Amino acid sequence: MTKNDTTKPTNFIHQIIEEDLKNGANDGKVVTRFPPEPNGYLHIGHAKSICLNFGTALKYGGQCNLRFDDTNPEKESQEYIDSIVSDVRWLGFEWSGDIRYTSDYFDTLYEWAVHLIKEGKAYVDSLSAHEMREYRGTLTEPGKNSPYRERSVEENLDLFAKMRDGAFDEGECVLRAKIDMAAANINLRDPVIYRVRKAHHHQSGDKWCIYPSYDFAHGQSDALEGVTHSICTLEFEDHRPLYDWFVANLPVPVTPRQYEFARLNLNYTVTSKRKLKLLVDENKVNGWNDPRMPTISGLRRRGYTPASIRNFCDMIGVTRSNGIVDMGMLEAAVREDLDTNAPRAMCVLDPIKLTIINQPEGEQEWFELPAHPKDESMGVRKVPFTRNLLIEREDFAQEPPKKWKRLAPGQAVRLRGAYVVRCEEVIRDANGEVVELKASFDPETKGANPTDYKPNGVIHWVSADNSVPCEVRAYDRLFTEANPDGDKERDFHEFINPESLVVYPRAHVEIGLKHAAVESRYQFERQGYFCVDPDTTESRMVFNRTVGLRDSWAKIQAK
Ligand code: ATP
Ligand code: MG
Repeated sequence: MTKNDTTKPTNFIHQIIEEDLKNGANDGKVVTRFPPEPNGYLHIGHAKSICLNFGTALKYGGQCNLRFDDTNPEKESQEYIDSIVSDVRWLGFEWSGDIRYTSDYFDTLYEWAVHLIKEGKAYVDSLSAHEMREYRGTLTEPGKNSPYRERSVEENLDLFAKMRDGAFDEGECVLRAKIDMAAANINLRDPVIYRVRKAHHHQSGDKWCIYPSYDFAHGQSDALEGVTHSICTLEFEDHRPLYDWFVANLPVPVTPRQYEFARLNLNYTVTSKRKLKLLVDENKVNGWNDPRMPTISGLRRRGYTPASIRNFCDMIGVTRSNGIVDMGMLEAAVREDLDTNAPRAMCVLDPIKLTIINQPEGEQEWFELPAHPKDESMGVRKVPFTRNLLIEREDFAQEPPKKWKRLAPGQAVRLRGAYVVRCEEVIRDANGEVVELKASFDPETKGANPTDYKPNGVIHWVSADNSVPCEVRAYDRLFTEANPDGDKERDFHEFINPESLVVYPRAHVEIGLKHAAVESRYQFERQGYFCVDPDTTESRMVFNRTVGLRDSWAKIQAK
């Protein structure tokens, strides 16, 4: 991606920035940040925020920081940090300078808390959490002042130092900003700015046993980094007056501004780190990067490309109105990318033997097929036509329905890119199960249509003698309900799609894919888009289905 990329779609935040640039605000600088809390893996909602923050900086030749908002040590971990760093890079973005951490600013934040105390704008409160809630009032009633609100500056300085030195237990006291207990906006009713937390921190170790609140840390970190446009989701709109209050009452070097946009909600999935963590912890999925998860790492393993996710984010746009985006849009984005860029291959998922009786054992005729029907530059692939072939079990019908386009007793179909074959005999086992089909090929049909009969259609196939046995994991949507979170009576777990993973252990893919690298993507003709899973070993390849060829979901649901 290049700087000043003016091809990117515009949005209301860009309009604000253009206005700022015109007025010479922020010395003409545009600085944004992406501020994840390292308490889980990133999901598709975060991709929207990443594309917006990094994309905006790119568009205006500015900078975007990656900052870990790490003020909740108990819930955070290095594993999450590492995954986030790798996901942002994979999406194609690079942050400005080093990775930053809110914990880098703990010393300054502490000094700024002391500054507020000295100004008479913060106090140590010794109410219990329960009492604090009672004193806070409600949306319709004002709160009441805490009896500790008028502690002297000296007493507050002394108590806050003791908090820092570990003299108090968790919950015994907190530091609060002294704003207005009668404010209509509850966030301004003396919000907590520091809590005692006797927790080891993944970055600052055991240096601190008090930690700043999100509200106290966020805007100040923005200011310390010179962030000009602090872009967050709409639920922080009510926090903006507090954001501005801190910035106005502290000796900050610059004045950042907060702007809110609507978060991405996607149907047929959940986008909350807490709920995704439950799915992982309860083994409903195989880890954060399970290909059914809406996490970036799950989408990556599923076969999504970074470009498809970025295009999806461009397509949905950035607004201030909440809505639900259809999963079909995300799927369409990857389908579009892979249709253009994925080479074609043939893979039989659920095979049945097709023996070509007029092709001698041991003989191999190689057919050349284009790697891509519309892109010659991708070259050709070679597939061997041998005596023992495999076709899809569902491509054969003993008693074909009308307009059957596949194989049936006595009927002829073309094997994709090779000959037309006619089914001569059906072999069954003792239970009556079809175990093998015998067919003859028509040597006149190499690159030509037969003149005296019409084959039913075209089916895919592979050589049983010379192909790669593999496992195919056909993934589908994780939930059967569009809004798995929307039922008050029933928990989202109840809507997990029992068919979200169907494994085909006996699949065979054409020989050319034998050494395909992990993550390489293909269109399996007539099946959909697939990629090589990292579970692949020397002796066993594993493919994941990214998405089918067409959006069949809507139709299935309508049945
Ligand atoms: P979750 O609710 O999943 O835990 P979060 O908001 O707590 O998400 P953070 O790590 O704090 O997660 O998010 C980092 C940034 O990503 C924030 O600026 C947040 O507003 C943004 N973000 C999170 N979820 C979404 C979403 N669904 N759509 C757009 N932006 C999001
Ligand atoms: Mg958050």
